Order: sequence, then structure tokens, then C-alpha cells
Amino acid sequence: QQQAAESLYILNSFAQKFFATQLFDTEEGQNIALSYLEERGFTNETLQKFQVGYNPQARDAFAKAAMQNQFSAEVLQRSGLVVNRNDELIDNYRGRIIFPVHNNSGKIIGFGARVIGKADKAPKYINTPENELYIKSKILYGLYFARLAIDKNDECLLVEGYTDVISLSQAGVENVVASGGTSLTTDQLRLIKKYTNNLTIVYDGDSAGVKAALRGLDMALEESLNVHLVLIPDNEDPDSYVRLVGAQGFKDFVAQNKKDFILFQLDIMLKDAGNDVNKKNEVVNHIAETISKINKAEDFSKQEEYIRQSATLLRIDEGGLTNLVNKFI
Ligand code: ATP
Ligand code: MN
Ligand code: MN
Ligand code: MN
Repeated sequence: QQQAAESLYILNSFAQKFFATQLFDTEEGQNIALSYLEERGFTNETLQKFQVGYNPQARDAFAKAAMQNQFSAEVLQRSGLVVNRNDELIDNYRGRIIFPVHNNSGKIIGFGARVIGKADKAPKYINTPENELYIKSKILYGLYFARLAIDKNDECLLVEGYTDVISLSQAGVENVVASGGTSLTTDQLRLIKKYTNNLTIVYDGDSAGVKAALRGLDMALEESLNVHLVLIPDNEDPDSYVRLVGAQGFKDFVAQNKKDFILFQLDIMLKDAGNDVNKKNEVVNHIAETISKINKAEDFSKQEEYIRQSATLLRIDEGGLTNLVNKFI
């Protein structure tokens, strides 16, 4: 097991160097991939910091190089970098830009691979399959680069994608990690909690990711995180938005628009319920249950504060809501 993990680390490190060389030092890489990344505004310095690379289009450019360097077919396939097609080992990420994913000591545990330009029929991203190193539920992309800034700002911004993290970091907003758009797990929340109690989710307004994030709310409360949400306007994501308004504009937008997550959820549910009395009762129950998840030992006054604000929004009696909350504890 230990040895299986170690051989993957060694292969991933070899692969990262190979892909970086392909991106910066070959004609194909420069013409097809580097030019695309430059068009999107990424500087060479940023690309080097995040160790971005390129897997050539040839069917087995990487597989060949790896086998010449004595990597076994078995570890090549386990890494997800290479697949077996009709008894032939070929590159899985042909013609894609490669984003390495690092663990907290900066070692590479896997990769995200993006098609260049619009994704028509192929999936836009392919990620490393689960293996000894790449355990999706425990990964936050960018944490290795962000953790000092998260600590210093006492806040962690959570975005959806690789390019959101890289773009914000380049602009000077460095306390950013990405979830890959899936719902947050307890392990991921605990990783954040090592550095801060303040989590701000920054998603596109129209994204399915918002719903996914909402599903993680109760867990976040159990971990005693203060969760806020900011929705990026109109067809933008954090990457495109920070390019549009600049770093200061982005920070101002987040500061002015971040909503408390519990109250945000209440707001959505109330709008949904309209004048329907049964639905409104469900909302009251739901919010009482959510508030009950707040870790009382750590955050007693916080729970009281939520009861007060929620009762106002719901136009119900504060004492009644308190009783209901206590029923769930
Ligand atoms: P880009 O700016 O390069 O288009 P993005 O991060 O904005 O990338 P989104 O479509 O917003 O791309 O997706 C957000 C994140 O969700 C991606 O960064 C990636 O981690 C994950 N993702 C998107 N599409 C896929 C896919 N087909 N398979 C697996 N993960 C994906
Ligand atoms: Mn996006
Ligand atoms: Mn994007
Ligand atoms: Mn608040």
C-alpha cells in the first residue's frame, strides 16, 4: 500500500515535468496550448507556479516517455494518465491542458485535464480516477498554495473550478480553493477549519453548484464554520469576473454581497413557499433543524442570533422558534 502510493507520487512528479516541458518548450505546446492560456490572460509566472502543463495530441507521447523511464504499465494505468485500448497503452489526456492537484505538502496526487477551447463532444475536464492518492472527498484544489493566505485573511473563499482559483490568485486574491463543483464533504470542511472558521462560497448564480453547496450546509454548521455565500452575476464565474472588474472590484463585490448562508437559505425557501401555509410550516421546521445543528458549546450566542433573525424573517414568535429548535437537539 505504502509502496503503491510512493510509486504514484514518483510517476505524477515525472508526468508534471513532462507536461510542463511540452507546454513551454515544444512548438505544439506553444502554438496550441500556451497561446490559448495566454489569450485567457494567464501569465507564464502563474502557469509555472501552479505547474500547469500540456499533454500532446499524439496517441502515446506520454506513455512512451514514461515507459522509457521504467514506469510499469500497472502504475501508469492506476494513475489515470494512461489507458489500455486494445492492448495498447495510450495517453488519456491527449491534447489537453493539465492542472496538477497537490496535497498539503505540495506533492502531486492527481490531475485535471481540460480540452482546449470549447468542449463540443468530449467532456471539458477529465479528472484522475480514485486511487491511493486521489481521494476526491478529501481534496480541495489549490489549498497548498492558499493556506497561508487563508490563515492570514482568516477567511477561505470556495470557488468551483481550477481556473477560478488560478485567476484569482494571479489577481492577488490568494485565499481561494476549489471543490470541483460537487457538494462539500466533512473531510473537506475539516481541512478548511485547520486554517479558519470563515468559509465564503463564491459560485456562479445560475450554477448547479449552489444546490450542491447548500447540501453541505448542515455539515458545515456541525463543524462550527461561519458560512457565507456570494453569487457572481450574469453568466460570469470568479475567473471571468475578476478579469472584468479587477482584484479590488472583486474583493469589494464579495464584501458587499456576501450573505449569511442560513439566512440565504431561509430567503430562498420563503420565496418558494409563497402564501402556502403548509409550505411555510415546513420552512419553519427546516430552519429550526438547521439552526439546531449549530454547535452550541462553541457558538451559543450565534444560535440565539439566528433564532432572532429567522423569527423576524418568518414573522413568528422568537420563543416558539427557540422551543422548536430545542426539539431537534
Ligand atoms: P473554464 O474556465 O476553463 O471553462 P471552469 O472551472 O469555469 O473552467 P466549469 O464548467 O465552470 O469550468 O466547471 C467547474 C469545475 O467543475 C471545473 O473546474 C472542474 O473541476 C469540474 N468539471 C467541469 N466539467 C467537468 C467534467 N466534465 N467532468 C469532471 N469535472 C468537471
Ligand atoms: Mn466556471
Ligand atoms: Mn470558467
Ligand atoms: Mn454574517
